[in-house]
Amino acid sequence: MHKSHRISNINEAGSDGWEVFLKARQMISEGVNVTELSIGEHDVRTDKSILDAMHVSALAGNTGYAMVPGIQSLRQAIAERVQERTGVLTGVDNVLITPGGQAGLFATHAATCDPGDRALYVEPFYTTYPSTLRAQGLEAVSIPTRSHFGFQPQRADIEKFVQDARSLLINSPNNPSGAIYSHDTMSMIADVCSTHNLWLISDEVYETQIWSSRHISPRSLPDMQERTLVIGSMSKSHAMTGSRIGWVVGPPDMIRHLIDFATNTTYGVAGFVQEAALFALAQGVKFEENIAAPFKRRREMTLDILKGFKTVKAIDPQGGMYVMLDIRATSLSGIEFANRLLDRHHIAVMPGESFGQSAAGHLRIAMTIADGAYRDALRTLCQFATEFADS
Ligand code: PLP
Repeated sequence: MHKSHRISNINEAGSDGWEVFLKARQMISEGVNVTELSIGEHDVRTDKSILDAMHVSALAGNTGYAMVPGIQSLRQAIAERVQERTGVLTGVDNVLITPGGQAGLFATHAATCDPGDRALYVEPFYTTYPSTLRAQGLEAVSIPTRSHFGFQPQRADIEKFVQDARSLLINSPNNPSGAIYSHDTMSMIADVCSTHNLWLISDEVYETQIWSSRHISPRSLPDMQERTLVIGSMSKSHAMTGSRIGWVVGPPDMIRHLIDFATNTTYGVAGFVQEAALFALAQGVKFEENIAAPFKRRREMTLDILKGFKTVKAIDPQGGMYVMLDIRATSLSGIEFANRLLDRHHIAVMPGESFGQSAAGHLRIAMTIADGAYRDALRTLCQFATEFADS
């Protein structure tokens, strides 16, 4: 039977660096004790108090169809949160509740681009970016960045690809690089979008994990409210990955269209999940800091360990739950290094190449395992790298 080009084209053929991850999973299924520094998920589960709120809501009968745009109280809470954090006047009409950030990424591209349109995204990228765009028949075009600029995009690199583009997708704090785009970078991006009439889709799902520098939501920059769609999520901020709860913030006119889109795709988010999210948000900043604390601690641990090694350098981890390591001094590609590390020491990391060629010769380390095991695995990795150091 015929399959649409869009569906068959979601995953491009060929090597993409995910083989190492799959090999590690295969080894685990065969009983090998693999240390996984590859998983983008907290090593704690959703807090019991949030689950209790979900349970109480469901038992109270909140199990029918929920309002498609999201329940009013949650939309209001998100609007207040965003306004407080960015200073931009934000109301319920600016907010759509979505089943996670991923649904927001999909919906915002459907809302801004037509099939065949060019949609831009920045390397190194969160792995679903190119496939989310291809799944809608878009021409997905990546903007390269460079390790020596800390993976901050440069104007000339964006402008090379901007011709006929409709949208630009950015992610700060960034998965996988840990970069937080500086004020200069964000202002430059805003200016490029205004000059070339692009929608800016700003994925801010790591906004509660800031270690240095300052997170700037580009929606707060002059004249950007009308062309910016912000993706938010409770997956990372509240360790609620499995609950599938997030949002899109944007101009009311676009939110109205996104509600039509949601009516015909997701049909909203379970009411008991939304009420649990409302409860979770009400726990305040301290709660969110506690969720982020292990990554903050392990980031410091990482920088400390790396001081003792010359072959492995960290890209300044400014935010998020990952550290990007530059292993080019070993003369191995990220894929080669990751494969050898897995074979020899049973440690799984993601090769930088999995996130685009801009991160070739790098590794992404997820700081998502217990402190002791994390420290040991990182030391082993660094020691292993010295074996390949240029003499
Ligand atoms: N955006 C980035 C940069 C991510 O890293 C992730 C998940 O890892 C997502 C979006 C999707 O998050 P959600 O669980 O909210 O769909």
